[in-house]
Amino acid sequence: MIEVVEPATAQVMAEVPRAGVEETDAAVAAARAAFPAWRDVSPGDRAALLHRLADRIEEKSDALATLEARNAGKPISDARGEMSMVVDCFRYYAGAPERLLGHTIPVAGGVDMTFREALGVVGLITPWNFPLTIASWKVAPALAAGNTVVLKPAELTPLTSLELERIALDAGLPEGVLNVVAGPGSVCGSRLVEHPDVAKVAFTGSTEVGRSIAAGAAQTIKRVTLELGGKSANVIFADADIEAAAAAAPSAVFGNAGQDCCARSRILVERSAVDDFLAAMERAVTAMVVGDPLDEKTEMGPLISADQLETVGSYVPDDAPVAIRGSAPDGPGFWFAPTVLSPVSNSDRAAAEEIFGPVACVIPFADEAEAAAIANDTIYGLSGSVWTRDGAKALRMARAIETGVISINSNSSVRVTTPFGGFKQSGVGRELGPDALDHYTDVKNVYYRTDED
Ligand code: NAD
Repeated sequence: MIEVVEPATAQVMAEVPRAGVEETDAAVAAARAAFPAWRDVSPGDRAALLHRLADRIEEKSDALATLEARNAGKPISDARGEMSMVVDCFRYYAGAPERLLGHTIPVAGGVDMTFREALGVVGLITPWNFPLTIASWKVAPALAAGNTVVLKPAELTPLTSLELERIALDAGLPEGVLNVVAGPGSVCGSRLVEHPDVAKVAFTGSTEVGRSIAAGAAQTIKRVTLELGGKSANVIFADADIEAAAAAAPSAVFGNAGQDCCARSRILVERSAVDDFLAAMERAVTAMVVGDPLDEKTEMGPLISADQLETVGSYVPDDAPVAIRGSAPDGPGFWFAPTVLSPVSNSDRAAAEEIFGPVACVIPFADEAEAAAIANDTIYGLSGSVWTRDGAKALRMARAIETGVISINSNSSVRVTTPFGGFKQSGVGRELGPDALDHYTDVKNVYYRTDED
């Protein structure tokens, strides 16, 4: 059995059967058997089933939010927002089966047309930080495009994905279309990567595991989408609304206790504005409510595990330049107070590595060119922000920073309707928006000769 631990109490909250290779193979076989019939469900009927699934999730969203808040240690208000995104995601892709358009291409002697064909069985591997949300980003477009699915959630947070499997059957999805295997990544995840009957793997997780998945997928030329780590820059110029940038900065890095691939954990501030920025940020950080995830007022919960607590702590040794420290409860649970280090050099370990915890580095810069150079001096390229009142400078920076997603005078990263994914070692492929469907289909070209001779 997998013992599922509640991070706020460090107590076991549930036990679920631990899947292994045998269960993974059985899930792939079930998905393979279900594929031809699912692919052939008419586009309108497939759309209706996805809408019905969205409705069922919405009906259960309070219970799902509570389960997610307890299992992942996230504030209940965040968990409710995430469940609403899950519902939106299934509704958005419910529009896709009837809009998987091809092209007609002018050619000599006949007619040429393209079709977007389903891939077959797709293996979806998800992390523990946004368990059901990230599952929905993959499951919804995969099913909409006519694929069948084996979903492997993270071992630490399998509960809402197992619920999704039950809800899908209840909504009328045929048996075998959506299968969930809860088990270790090194066993069930790697089996999906090597399995000859799995056409594609979509993975969200660490860059380290992403590398091994890319290497493993090469053996069978599997399609891969990789959503990996980040070390995103929040670039704040002296001509920005400093109060607004400083008020928004804490949730952009301490949201989900910093366990967010989009965390803007490198805060680059134009040197002349550093003092004003830190003073305003201190007010925001010390006001953050850190505590029981199920309390409506909580803004930040615990870290996911004792291991994560130890790892995050290693980035804040006794001689670390701690400029701001917020609060955290004592007692059981994996608590770490939001912490701002300043000044930090971009080459320091805390600035160079993805911490995946509530630790931010403030890095001063002199001008636009230096800001872009520091922002790009990383193996990652997932997200980021630029704060300035100069519109042309904002756009120059947005183009100069090597990242898949960037916001101006805002820290938002993710919407159901817009593409999301990384440059450089933050990944390959895109999720969400119209682009995700490209990654769950292959293009087939058909030529039909119409000339008579
Ligand atoms: P992880 O890489 O340890 O695990 C992710 C998933 O992969 C889990 O389900 C795990 O069981 C599985 N896995 C582990 N080893 C495997 C293997 N050898 N073969 C196949 N599967 C395997 O990541 P995590 O600790 O769960 O999540 C944190 C990481 O995820 C961070 O680096 C974060 O930046 C990244 N992340 C990225 C995004 C994004 O969209 N870019 C979103 C969320 C999290």
